[in-house]
Amino acid sequence: MKLVTFSLADDRPGAGALFDDGILDLSEQGFGSALDLIASRRSPVPRGTRIPLDQARLLAPLPNPPRIFCIGLNYRDHAIESKMEIPAVPTVFVKLSSSVIGPNAPIVLPKISTQPDYEAEFAVVIGRGGAKIQAANWREHVFGYTILNDVSARDVQLATSQWTLGKSFPTFCPIGPAIVTADEIPDPHGLDIRLDIDGEEMQHSNTRELIFRVPELIAYISSITPLEPGDIISTGTPQGVGLGRKPQRWLKPDETVTVEIAGLGQLVNPTVAEA
Ligand code: ZN
Repeated sequence: MKLVTFSLADDRPGAGALFDDGILDLSEQGFGSALDLIASRRSPVPRGTRIPLDQARLLAPLPNPPRIFCIGLNYRDHAIESKMEIPAVPTVFVKLSSSVIGPNAPIVLPKISTQPDYEAEFAVVIGRGGAKIQAANWREHVFGYTILNDVSARDVQLATSQWTLGKSFPTFCPIGPAIVTADEIPDPHGLDIRLDIDGEEMQHSNTRELIFRVPELIAYISSITPLEPGDIISTGTPQGVGLGRKPQRWLKPDETVTVEIAGLGQLVNPTVAEA
């Protein structure tokens, strides 16, 4: 199933299942929201009236995730390219949920940053929560997978050793278009991932390059803080970010950023200057 959050003209957002020919409204099956569905661990029935895609607007599939954990320097190709040591322990920081936006919503480039950058990322959505989860049991805790663009103001991010605020401006966390349930992605460690700006490829790798894989990340984070349904773990970005390019390349207004991951679709967002 492809879980989405959508809204109609002047209705409040609701959970839906995305199909090629429309969206199945899951509120009719008693699911109040996408988070409600994830936490309930109840499977929806794939039957009912479908809303045509041109009548609905897709929002972030999980508009207000409890927590967004991000992993720094987690692609082998990126670490080698940057001549950085392969880390022994995952570098984990958080991105504030208030920065989340959905597909096609604009990324607002803040006036106080001259170095806004993109990061294509493969993200895991936790289903069943738990503390001290064994790596071998990771599949029991994964609801599904989605695409996340870890937009980062490099000057703000790197002004100190703490990255959270430089990555948490409003609109800096595009997610979507859908959360694809784990049953549709048998192996999350072999997925092509790419990002382009106005059609020009900037990043292209594969999740097999991940240094810390999904089982290890779930085990590590849950050894410290119990994971909750709807928590997101964004697994890090491969080589090719603007910061690492020669010359460096920053996001500009009126560009279109597209992140694509095999099996998860495309996450497209335009950029705009802060008014
Ligand atoms: Zn990142």
